[in-house]
Order: sequence, then structure tokens, then C-alpha cells
Amino acid sequence: ATARLVEKRLATLGPTTMLFYRQPLEIVRGEGVWLFDSQGRRYLDAYNNVQVLGHCHPAVVEAVSRQLGQLNIHTRYLDDAIHHYAEQLLASLPVADGRLVLTCTGSEANDLALRLARQWTGRQGVIVSAAAYHGNTERVTEVSPSSYKTGQPPPWVETISLEPLNDPHTDARQWLQQETQRALCALARRGYDCAALLIDSIFSSDGIYADPPGFLQPAVELVRAAGGVLIADEVQPGFGRTGEALWGFVRHDLQPEIVTFGKPMGNGFPVAGLVAQQPMLARLAQQQGYFNTFGGSSAAIAAAQAVWDTLEKEQLQRNAARTGAYFKQQLQQRQQRWPVISQVRGSGLFIGVDLSRADTQTEPDPQLTGRLINALREQGVLIGAAGRHGATLKIRPPLCFNQQHADLFLSHFDTVMSELLA
Ligand code: PMP
Repeated sequence: ATARLVEKRLATLGPTTMLFYRQPLEIVRGEGVWLFDSQGRRYLDAYNNVQVLGHCHPAVVEAVSRQLGQLNIHTRYLDDAIHHYAEQLLASLPVADGRLVLTCTGSEANDLALRLARQWTGRQGVIVSAAAYHGNTERVTEVSPSSYKTGQPPPWVETISLEPLNDPHTDARQWLQQETQRALCALARRGYDCAALLIDSIFSSDGIYADPPGFLQPAVELVRAAGGVLIADEVQPGFGRTGEALWGFVRHDLQPEIVTFGKPMGNGFPVAGLVAQQPMLARLAQQQGYFNTFGGSSAAIAAAQAVWDTLEKEQLQRNAARTGAYFKQQLQQRQQRWPVISQVRGSGLFIGVDLSRADTQTEPDPQLTGRLINALREQGVLIGAAGRHGATLKIRPPLCFNQQHADLFLSHFDTVMSELLA
């Protein structure tokens, strides 16, 4: 049956619609941290950063269903629900005189953020991390080096590398400061001033770099001194995932001019957007305006509000901090048993585990990572990879993931590692 579905898929869907796993899964149902396939087998979802509350959380399902049955329109009519949501979101953010704009995807939010930053500063250059992913519109693809299969970034983009942070002797603040200085000079040499530093503060696709807290500060100061602004892409670190705070950039004590949101915002219902300083948005309104048909629809707001309330009610940020600390420590302990685990990094329920070749113990091992991911799938655990070499396990479960789930993950991990390294 799987082979028939794969064949049909190839005949109907574009080849950009990629599948996970050598043995692809047909998932038919989700509940909490669990996904169920068409055979009734269950899988522990340690991959997902969309269903932040857990799959099919009843609070979101009920809120969206109720709203869809009553009314679902765009933002051109008055609706106090959107104000209520915006007030809470804005109060949680340190953006001076901030206002909310809603979109459907993180890509649209980042695209708009770039447009705002460039219009506001009158500059064009953008600095991003070396393996960043910020989305898929044409402009945003250009600031997403992890999507370049061929070619180079356009001349207005310069990247900063985080890989040296794998070496525990590297001073992260100093490294990033030097890299940013170099990036600013490289842009200037090509005739571009810097409009923005665009960063996902947990660096998901670079390989998950969280420590030490505050290491981004000098880089941001340099960019500001050069006339640019900070765009914090919270699509991955936002909504409590990193445990310590609701927003990832808080860990670095930053005050962005623009913050973008996506994935977890609606627990699977398409809601995304940005908060930017009012004068920036006023200029956009004067020059072009902005409208997004589905962004901020009544149902989207119902979903977003339910996510917001449930995060608070179920204390999920606190759980991310507590369970994440336990999980990370357990994984770090395994480094002694399996020296191929060269580093364990992360914050809250976003953990990266670097796997290296057994002979050198420093060279990234994407083959082992791939085999481990496929073997874990056989054990009923779903997980992905990140990092420039695809050799960092990316552990990013729903925030209702608890210690028992972590223990279950670890017991399967131990089994699979013993088999693979035997
Ligand atoms: N920013 C980051 C950090 C992301 O990880 C993603 C999606 N993986 C996006 C932006 C784009 O979001 P979307 O797929 O909703 O357009």
C-alpha cells in the first residue's frame, strides 16, 4: 500500500513535496505527543514545532470549529477579538510602540519584515546566519542559505558562520562580533549598507546554538551602529519553546525593532505575522499598503487566542524549561558511553545532538545521523536533523512532552545506538 501511495504521489505532486524517511509513513491521526499511522501504530513526535500544545489540542479544535461555524472573514471589519489578542501579544514584547500585522505563513512575515527594514533604513544589505532558513518567497529564499542548492547568495546578502561555536574554546560573543564586523565590511565592499540583521535566535537550521545567553548582543550593537535594525525571527524559538522566556531573543537580552512569528502561533491553523514599530508600519501604509486575505481571519484569531490561553493554563513554557533541562542533561550523560556524540546543545525543548565519526570524533557524521533517524522511526520515535552537514539531531517535540516521554525517547535512543555502534 505504501508503494502505491508513493507512486501516486510522484504522479500528482511536484518533486518539491518531499517525504520523510526511507520507509515513508502514512499518518492518519494525532493526539498530544503522539501520531498514529494507517496500521494503528503510534509514534512519539519529537520533531514537531507546529503543534506546540500537542496534536489536535481540544482547546484549539473547539475554538476554531466554533468560529468556523459562526463567521470567518478577513480583517477589514471591526472585530474586538483581534484587538484582545494583539494587546496580549504586544504586552509580552519589548518592541517600542509596536503594532501587529497578521499573515498566514512565516515566509510572508519575514518578507514583509525585510520590506519594512529596507524602506525604513533606506538600505538594502541583510546579514543572516550561514545555514539560516527564513522561508520560501522569492526574496526570503535569498536570505535562506540553507535552501541554496546551487549558486551563491545575491550581493546584498552576507552570512555569518556559527560553526566555530562547536569548539568549546571559542568565545561566542567575540566570534560573532568579529563575524558581524566582517559581514558589514563585505557588504560595504559590494556597495551595500546594512538594513537588517535577521536571525532566528536558536539557530535551528544552523544546528541549534543557544549559549552562552547574551552572545548576540555585540553583533546587534554593531549592526545598529551601522544603521541597520534587528529582525528577530521567532518562528522556531517563540511561544515558550526555549523554556526561559516566551521569546527566544529574551535569552540574549535584545530589543528587536521587528519580531516575526509563525508555526506554533495557531497550533497548526495557519497564523503568522509580525510586530514592528508603528512609524515603520506607517511608512509602509503610505507607500504601498499591505493586505493579506487570510491573515488574521476570524478563525485564525480564534486559534491563536486558544494557543495563547493554553500555553498559560498548562504552564507549557515552564514544562519546556524543566523537561528540557532533564532531557539535555540525560543526553549529555550519554556522551561518555558514546563518544560519537560530540556535543549536546540547546535550550528548553529545543535540543541539538551533534554526531561525529567514530574514528575522528570531530568530523560530522551525516550517514550515522540518517541511519539513527531511520532506526528511531522503526522504534516509533520521529525526529529530524539540522546543521550545515545534516549531522545534528534536532529534538523539538510539542511542549506537552514530559519526563516520561523523554525517558521513552532515551530508552529507544539507547537501543538504536547500541545496535548501530555494535
Ligand atoms: N523562519 C524560520 C526560522 C523557519 O523555521 C520557517 C519554516 N521552517 C520559516 C521562517 C518559514 O515559515 P513558513 O513555512 O510558515 O513560511
